[in-house]
Amino acid sequence: MSEPEARSPAPGSLALIQRFINSTELPDGIDELGSAPLAARWLRDAVGANLEVSNKDRTRLIATREALRDLLESHTGENVDPAVAVRLEKLLGSAPLRPVVSAQGATLAVNCGGVENFLGMISTALVEATLMGTWAHLKVCRSDTCRWAFYDHSKNGRSCWCSMRVCGSREKARTYRARQRATSAP
Ligand SMILES: [Zn+2]
Repeated sequence: MSEPEARSPAPGSLALIQRFINSTELPDGIDELGSAPLAARWLRDAVGANLEVSNKDRTRLIATREALRDLLESHTGENVDPAVAVRLEKLLGSAPLRPVVSAQGATLAVNCGGVENFLGMISTALVEATLMGTWAHLKVCRSDTCRWAFYDHSKNGRSCWCSMRVCGSREKARTYRARQRATSAP
């Protein structure tokens, strides 16, 4: 799905995590992982691999996607239950990774097939983004009904809304109306 406005996507492999989270448009948009065949098609588009997806796999993909979304709330200053990270660790933990070593150093490669292959890519992308210092800039929109993942390219790194034009201004209008109501109340 496309970005709601001209925010450029997250750099490097972090863009895969962003795209994964945005495979559905909340609260009631299309879910690109809405069925096992749809999820298989999404994976083919996203990582170019033909991966078998069972209903159980799809459930795991969705649980992983939503755990990532929940975890990212911490990047806009929300308190996230530590159980979310534990849940994500468990979901990603089924994908074995192996080091690929050269004179230049090492990277991690996914050492399995199926949906685990994709989950392994998510793990490596997460580790890479942490080391590059980009992880903290991947955020989910603070609007409870939106929760779209965006990359905060701003200098001060304090964006909280996917788009100031849509969610930010909507939120401002809501605060304004609430304040109006409060001041006009008898
Ligand atoms: Zn939003």
